Amino acid sequence: MDNIIIKNLEVYCNHGVYREENVLGQKFLVSAKLSLNTRKAGIADALDVSVDYASVCKFINDYMKSHTFKLLEAVAEHLTLAMFAHFEMLHGITLEIKKPWAPIGLPIDYVSVEINREWHTAYVALGSNLGDKLSYLENAVASIKNDVNCKLLKISDFIITAPYGPVEQDDFLNGCLKLETLYTPNELLAFLQRLEEAANRSHEIHWGPRTLDLDILLYDDLIMNSDDLVIPHPEMHKRDFVLRPLSQIAPYAVHPLYNVRIKDMLDDED
Ligand code: ADP
Ligand code: MG
Repeated sequence: MDNIIIKNLEVYCNHGVYREENVLGQKFLVSAKLSLNTRKAGIADALDVSVDYASVCKFINDYMKSHTFKLLEAVAEHLTLAMFAHFEMLHGITLEIKKPWAPIGLPIDYVSVEINREWHTAYVALGSNLGDKLSYLENAVASIKNDVNCKLLKISDFIITAPYGPVEQDDFLNGCLKLETLYTPNELLAFLQRLEEAANRSHEIHWGPRTLDLDILLYDDLIMNSDDLVIPHPEMHKRDFVLRPLSQIAPYAVHPLYNVRIKDMLDDED
């Protein structure tokens, strides 16, 4: 990835924990490292296929003047999110906000907060076998699409599959999504669980009928294992109802643990 760098853009605005800071305002210095692919713009010498740094500076200036936060952390977090929503070509942002006049009462050059955020690629499995299955899946897709932390890139067909496991129950409707997300894996899980709850999902019967099941299959090439989150999803390679729709949207994605393409996992399963 290439970078466009903005250094020490000076903005006079009102962020701070103290009331005086909110009323009087002070100087902030913003530095941004914008990561994106500049090759097209470079070869064609065309601004419309890059990100205009003048627009970015204006955007930062306007955003910081029209909002008031207590913490530098909050300015950085919210500003970054707004920049991603506004400048679609950005893949990653490193943002440092300096406060040279921070009311500390000791001599200091400045204090600053620096954060680094980027889009991650994730695959999510959807399933429902209770009530209006199609509506549950469609509502989940719409909620993901409308979330500022997610970009929906691909949706598989929804397929009808026979239930799995020991509990006798209705057929499932299953599908998979490809998305880009700013969420960490744990934040993505929490977001998906909120959608499950909104669909009246009760967790009483393990492997029992459910209005909505949303599982994280892959997240970049991440391999992780915590008490409540395992990535890649530990059952995905055994589940035809996951591999079939996943193979439709990502046949050549590679399972980072087994080092096998999704399409080959599906073929091996047959
Ligand atoms: P399943 O999806 O296996 O049928 P549940 O939806 O009831 O079962 O999930 C049970 C728990 O699985 C969740 O509370 C979650 O903490 C955990 N879990 C572990 N790894 C994942 C993952 N990759 N995606 C979703 N949930 C996961
Ligand atoms: Mg689940």
